[in-house]
Amino acid sequence: MTKPLTITEASCADDYDPNSMPVAKARAFINTFLSPVKGFARLPIRSALGRVLSEDIISPVNVPAHINSAMDGWAIRCEDLADNPAAALTEIGTSFAGRPFQGAVSNGQCVRIFTGGVVPESCNAIVMQEKAHADGKTITFNAGVQPGQNVRYAGEDLKQGAVALARGRLVRPAELGLLASLGISDVSVYRPLRVVFFSTGDELVSIGSPLAEGEIYDSNRYTLHGMLTRMGCDVIDMGVVRDDPALLEKAFHDASEIGDVVITSGGVSVGEADYVKQLLTKLGEVVFWKIAMKPGRPLAYGKIGKAHFFGLPGNPVSVMVTFYQFVRDALLILQGVNPIPVQPLLKVVCTSAIKKAPGRTEFQRGVLYLEDGIYKVRTTGEQGSGILKSMSDANCFIMLHDHVGNVDAGATVEVQILEGVI
Ligand code: AMP
Ligand code: MG
Repeated sequence: MTKPLTITEASCADDYDPNSMPVAKARAFINTFLSPVKGFARLPIRSALGRVLSEDIISPVNVPAHINSAMDGWAIRCEDLADNPAAALTEIGTSFAGRPFQGAVSNGQCVRIFTGGVVPESCNAIVMQEKAHADGKTITFNAGVQPGQNVRYAGEDLKQGAVALARGRLVRPAELGLLASLGISDVSVYRPLRVVFFSTGDELVSIGSPLAEGEIYDSNRYTLHGMLTRMGCDVIDMGVVRDDPALLEKAFHDASEIGDVVITSGGVSVGEADYVKQLLTKLGEVVFWKIAMKPGRPLAYGKIGKAHFFGLPGNPVSVMVTFYQFVRDALLILQGVNPIPVQPLLKVVCTSAIKKAPGRTEFQRGVLYLEDGIYKVRTTGEQGSGILKSMSDANCFIMLHDHVGNVDAGATVEVQILEGVI
C-alpha cells in the first residue's frame, strides 16, 4: 500500500494551481484527507434522530413477520377453483389483523380475511372482496385467481439476518420508524463533531456593543452557528479575534486543541493572507487557494494539530457559499455519513438575464417559483458578496459552471435547492 500524500505533498502536484483552483478539484482534494471521527454512543432510538449510525443494523426478525393479506377479502386454496372458477366455497371463519383464524382449511372452504390478517396455512391466494360474491357463508369468485395473489410473504420486505440499515446512515424519521418496526430500542451512533469557530478582523464588534466609526457587527459567527447547529455539531464560539499575530496564534492553537474542526472567517484574502499564512505554516499544514468561483474566492484548508481547519473568506455571503460548497460535505464525512448524499442540480428556466465571465463557477442567489405550472428561477437582485439579504431571500443557488458566459433571460440554468440543506 502506498503511503497517502500529506497536504503539502498533495498541493505540490504538477496540475495544481493555487491561484485558480476549480471548485470540484478543491472539494476532491479536501475529501482525501477526511475520515469519520472515532467515538460512539449507544442511544435510545428517539435520541438518535439526526445522528449517524456507527454500526450495521441487522434485522432480528422477518418483515413482515407472518404471511399475511394485502387486502380485505377471502383466503382461498387456488386449486379449489382451478377446474371450475364459478365453484362456491364455504366460509368457515375469519382472520383479523392480530387475531388469526385458528382452524384448518380443507377442500371447498375459505376464510374471511382482513388486511394484515395471517393467511391460513393451506391457503395460497387472497381474493379481494370486490371480486367475490357472498350469499351468507357461500362465496363465489370471479375467474382468474392466481396463486400468491394479494399475499405478503414472511420476510419479503426484509429477511431476518439481513442488513436493515447500513453504518453511515443518517437517522431520519423513516429510520426511527423502521428501527421501531424491528423492535430495536437503541443504536450505536457516531459522537457529534466538535467545531470551534472565531471571526477575525479589527472592524468587528459583537452584538450588544455600540459601533464606533468604521466598525461593523460580526454576522459570520451567527450564520456559522446556525449552519453548524443545523448539522448536529457541538459548536464552540470563540468570538472575535483581532488582527494581531500573537492573539491569532493563541486562538488557532487553543481552537485546535479542543475542536475536531476549526473554522475561521476573514483574514485569508490577499494582503492578509501572507501573515496568516506564515502563522498557519508554523502551527500546522495549510494550503491557501484562490478558488475559481464567485463568491468565495479565497479559501484555506489544512490541519492544525489533529484538527481540520477551514479558513473561509470574510464576506458574509462568501462564508455561506463556501460552507455549503466545501465544508458541509466535509463535515458529513467526518460525522460518518456514508454515502454522502448527492445534491441534485435541477434544470429550470431563468427569467433574469445574468452577466457572467467564463472561467469560474458562480453561485448566484435565486428564487425558485412556480408560474403557469412550471418552475422558474430569478435572481434575488444585487449579488454583492456582502449582501446577506440575498441569502435570506434565496431558496436556491443558481449554479453557473466554469464554461458558462452571460445568461440570457429565458435560458435554462441549473439550481441547487437550499431547503433541506440549510
Ligand atoms: P476579509 O476577508 O477579512 O478581508 O474580509 C472581507 C470583508 O468581509 C470585509 O469587508 C470585512 O469587513 C467583512 N467581514 C469579515 N468578517 C466579517 C464578519 N465576521 N461579519 C461581517 N462581515 C465580515
Ligand atoms: Mg479581515
